[in-house]
Amino acid sequence: MTSTDRHILDLSRRGLLCGATAAAALAAILPARSRQVIAQPLFRAYPFTQGVASGDPLPDGVVIWTRLAPEPLAGGGMPRSAVEIQWEIAADPAMRQIVQTGTALARPELGHSVHVEVTGLEPGHAYHYRFRAGRVASPIGHTRTAPALDAMPAALRYISAGCQNFEAGHFTAWRHIAEEADIDFVSHYGDYIYEHAARALSPTVVRQHNSDEIYTIDDYRNRYAHYRSDPDLQAAHAAHAFLMSFDDHEVDNNWAGIHSEEDGSPRFPHAVPPEIFALRKQIAFQVWYESMPVRRAQLPRGADITAWRALRWGRLADIAVLDTRSYRDDQPCGDINGPPCPAVANPAAQILGPAQESWLFDRLANTPSTWKILAQQVPIMRRDFGTTSLSISMDKWDAYPAARTRLLNHIHDRSVKNVSVLTGDVHQAWAGTIHLDPDDTKSPALASEFVATSISSNGDGSETLPTTERVLSRNPHIAFFNNRRGYTLHEATPARTTATFRGLDYVTRPGAARMDKGVFVVEAGDARVKKG
Ligand code: FE
Ligand code: CA
Repeated sequence: MTSTDRHILDLSRRGLLCGATAAAALAAILPARSRQVIAQPLFRAYPFTQGVASGDPLPDGVVIWTRLAPEPLAGGGMPRSAVEIQWEIAADPAMRQIVQTGTALARPELGHSVHVEVTGLEPGHAYHYRFRAGRVASPIGHTRTAPALDAMPAALRYISAGCQNFEAGHFTAWRHIAEEADIDFVSHYGDYIYEHAARALSPTVVRQHNSDEIYTIDDYRNRYAHYRSDPDLQAAHAAHAFLMSFDDHEVDNNWAGIHSEEDGSPRFPHAVPPEIFALRKQIAFQVWYESMPVRRAQLPRGADITAWRALRWGRLADIAVLDTRSYRDDQPCGDINGPPCPAVANPAAQILGPAQESWLFDRLANTPSTWKILAQQVPIMRRDFGTTSLSISMDKWDAYPAARTRLLNHIHDRSVKNVSVLTGDVHQAWAGTIHLDPDDTKSPALASEFVATSISSNGDGSETLPTTERVLSRNPHIAFFNNRRGYTLHEATPARTTATFRGLDYVTRPGAARMDKGVFVVEAGDARVKKG
């Protein structure tokens, strides 16, 4: 067998066309100058099964993304070659007024994903985009660029969402997000996938994961592909630009810095050594990068990734996307929910790590923008779940009080105004005011915090819990709690921000309507969260 024959067989076993047309196709798919690049692929199955996405808007450009995966749940089904993809940006939804085109390579090293960092666009503009591979066109996506740095837009409308356990419910909330009008971007705080094995169907497991727990690069790719095959999630990505972050489940539940959840604590006596956990992180971050509309600056290096970054919405808002997982200390006290053990008092506690912390502090003190939005993962505000004495979750800022105090002292000492914190992770909606002393509502109010509930994780939920009345009375800085699924719609103007908590009464069946569960406002210059 010649090497050319072997190549044809290789293609036929994967997603590309062969048979009668293979000889004719060969000339096109194997240009003489390079056998590594396929310029005119012929697909046996539709390759744009993952849809399209855009993200990280700048005033002059945005990232547009797709991935060729004719067999999405079987490693993608592409040959071991790079494949040319054409991209187009248009001013109109019918793609008639093309403003830019280009070519990108979908490389096998990156699971045949492409991340095009488009430049040369107009600030504050809506655009439409699409990809072509061979004769096949992708769905059309819609995106927006950021306003000019010196502009003062009348409003910024954005969504905060995350925690989308595929097994726990339908992605109805993503369908509602796709249909929200005039959205500048969607901030996704993480838990885009869950890493655990498929569970047996039950009233709370309404659809199943594709595989056992994920460890290999193909495992992670197939898991992302399984989630991304959901039409509601695809619709949301096609409709809006995203600011992607990650939380724990993109790697493994409640990991912390170099530590796996299996950290040798009493609940997990068989520790996964950090050097072994680093191998899993390396795979998980590579596939996160492959799957997300993010810039080359977020390409992982070994087990490390720089996901913290910022963008400006003119002089109206400065958005810092934070990574509260990669640089934190291991959760103290064995990562329980309970009374703080002595380790909580560690005066050197880290949740952002020194480099990210000093970058954030510098940005907060010096940005010219009115609103400082911290797009991050775990609650900063005090949440005391005790009955007679303090009880906290060790996975949140509550368990790293020295790190929280450094942040709050910086905001206070530098008179940083209008800090608006976006949070997720806890699968419930919360709104509250963060005070200089988290236990004293008479101390200065420094920031507002809005915790988005989950898209689907934890299932249908309820309006409140048996503990809600007690928790609210023990935490007077908290203005709102709701235990339904959904997302938060935010609108910032120069005068105020408004947070609307959209909720769904069920996710275990498709088709729930969206309802507003609470509306809260923060006036510029006054960090206190008030009922809207
Ligand atoms: Fe989650
Ligand atoms: Ca989480």
